[in-house]
This record gives sequence, C-alpha cells and structure tokens, in this order.
Amino acid sequence: MNDFEFRTVPSLISQTGAATRLGKIIRQEFPAISHVLLVTDAGFLRTGLVQPVIDSLETEQLKVSIFSDVIADPPEAIVLQAVANARDLQVELVVGLGGGSSMDVAKLIAILAGSDQSLATMYGIGNVKGKRLPLIQIPTTAGTGSEVTPISIVTTGATTKMGVVAPQLYADIAILDAQLTTGLPAKVTAATGIDAMVHAIEAYTTKHKKNPLSDMLAVQALKLLWNNIDEACSNGSNLAARQAMLLGAMLAGQSFANAPCAAVHALAYPVGGIFHVPHGLSNSLVLPHVLRFNASHAAELYAELAAIIAPEATGTAEQRCHAMIKAMEDLAVRVGIETRLSQVGITEKDLDQLASDAMLQTRLLGNNPREVTKEDARAIYAAAL
Ligand SMILES: [Zn+2]
Repeated sequence: MNDFEFRTVPSLISQTGAATRLGKIIRQEFPAISHVLLVTDAGFLRTGLVQPVIDSLETEQLKVSIFSDVIADPPEAIVLQAVANARDLQVELVVGLGGGSSMDVAKLIAILAGSDQSLATMYGIGNVKGKRLPLIQIPTTAGTGSEVTPISIVTTGATTKMGVVAPQLYADIAILDAQLTTGLPAKVTAATGIDAMVHAIEAYTTKHKKNPLSDMLAVQALKLLWNNIDEACSNGSNLAARQAMLLGAMLAGQSFANAPCAAVHALAYPVGGIFHVPHGLSNSLVLPHVLRFNASHAAELYAELAAIIAPEATGTAEQRCHAMIKAMEDLAVRVGIETRLSQVGITEKDLDQLASDAMLQTRLLGNNPREVTKEDARAIYAAAL
C-alpha cells in the first residue's frame, strides 16, 4: 500500500434546501461576521435561484455584496478585479456560489483579499503563505467537486492555464443543495456529471497517491453518479436524483483532491483551452480513447469499476474493462452530448498542437497508469476525431 495523506474540508452539509439556511449557518459558525461576498456568474444570477440565498443572509442582518462577473475559464484579470473589489468593500467572508469557475475565483478572493502576497507568486503547489478569509462553497453544478478541492485554475494567457494548489484553498464549509441545480439543461447535467465520473475513475487508477480512502470515495461516487445521471438528465426537476449527483460529484472531488487526476484531464485541457469546449465535454470526448490506451496497464482496476458501470459484464478482467469503457461511451451517446472531436470544430490539422499542449500537463500526466508520449497523445486525439 502507498503511504498517503488525506485532507478535505472540515464541514459538509448535504441537504436539499440547505442554501436557504446560509444566513443561519454563517451566524452560527462565524458569529463575528457582518459582510458577506457572494461570488457567482451572470447566468446563475439571472436564474433567480440566488434570491432565496440573499434573503437568508439579509434576514440575519448580514450585509451582502455580489461579484457576478465570473466567466468560464476565468482569466487572471477577472480574479484580480474581484480581489480589488473585495478589498474596497472590506468583505469578511466569501461564498462561492456557482460552477467550478465561481468556486475557483472565490478561493482566490478569500486568499488574496487578506494577504499582501501576489497571485503570480502563488501558482504551483504549496506556494500560498498565510491565511484566508472564511470561505463557504455552494456548487450549482454536479461536476467539478471544486467545493472540496484545494485547487484553483486560472487562465493566464490566450490558451494557457495555471493552477494554485494549497491547503488554504480548502473551504470551511461545503453545502450541497439540489435546488440550485434544477435549472441546468440536460446536456450540461450530462457533461458535468461525466466529468465527475472521470474524477472518480482517474483517482481510482492514479499512479502514486492511490489509497484506501480515495478508493472508497471513488467507488461510492461512481455508484451515485452512474445510478442517477440518466434520471437527472431526462427529468431535471427530480430533486432526489439531483442531490445524489451533487453528493457523487463531491465524493469524487474528495477522492481526486487526494489521489490526483491523470491523462484524461491532461488531454482534455488543450481541447478546452484552444477550442473553448466546456471542461466536462472536453473530458467526455477523450475519455474512452484514453481508457483504451491505458487498458494494458490498468485493466484490473477498470474491471473493478465495471462492477458498478457495467455490472452485466463477465469474463476476464480485460473483457470487463472493455465493457466498462463501452458503457461510458454509450452513456455519452444516450445523454445526447457530442462524442467526436470533429463535432466541436477540431480537424486533423489541429492534432499536433493538441498533442504538444497536452505534453505540458506534466502535473497530471505523471499520475497516469501508463506513460504517455507526444506520439501517443496524437494517436489518442486521432482516435477521438
Ligand atoms: Zn474535471
């Protein structure tokens, strides 16, 4: 067994409707706080789902400020603008209320608003000094698991991204409330749900930090996600299915926060970075092809996951492994999302650049069960075309 460390957020609330108690929760956990910053995006603000959350804060006489300029793949400039805004307002507690981008920005606001350290010196692993403002994360998609990870991804150039990874980025409290995810369209539910499944699959097969806790979380995450994704996509108002998806995505987040992701994410990032394909869909597009590439080195582990994803499969580990890959491929077809890179505007001539960019994801590639060369990456993209 590998030596390992395990960290997660200290407090979790999984309860449909819990976000409408946010004011009370803050009053109880942080009695000295009087000014709260909600970090979200314009799209979520328009849904109206944010109003009951604001009401709950105001009922407790908490002053509320809102930063709603978060966009997908948040650029550094937006983060810095948000931090300046938070400093001017002298907010005391930060709430990330949105998808991965809003939660990632909330983490950095909480760190930077109370610190002299510059963002530029925080990129990488373990480079954050000092403390942060109190931080509560409330996801509005069941996907990234960012509410329980110590990672924030920032777009630093035209297509390049950098990550801040530090224990200070773990929130104080994560709140899972299915009510907030009911407005998500089926295709977004599908792609983000598959992303969460990828987190569990990659954590379960990660090369260096696989451990019994991350395995347990990945298995439970996959059960919840696999058993509820079809219903959540076809009947988006089913709160039980939505809550199960949020819980599954969170458990997968706890898993990969400690047993990190690998080549599926490494190959998905350039698809998102260059072609602006959403994170979940980018992962789903390359997933079966990376798993087939890995099969020679991870068939036994994939076969263990087939017990959840393709329970009808029998035969050798290799046969069950391939049944699992096929089941994930069929899922993408069934829920109606794109399944080929060519459907998102990628052509043969783009494959070299994709492969070159993927090789820059050394933080992720090092965790893959099988070594990936640039030629391998190109071949995987070609298979996904
Ligand atoms: Zn992901």
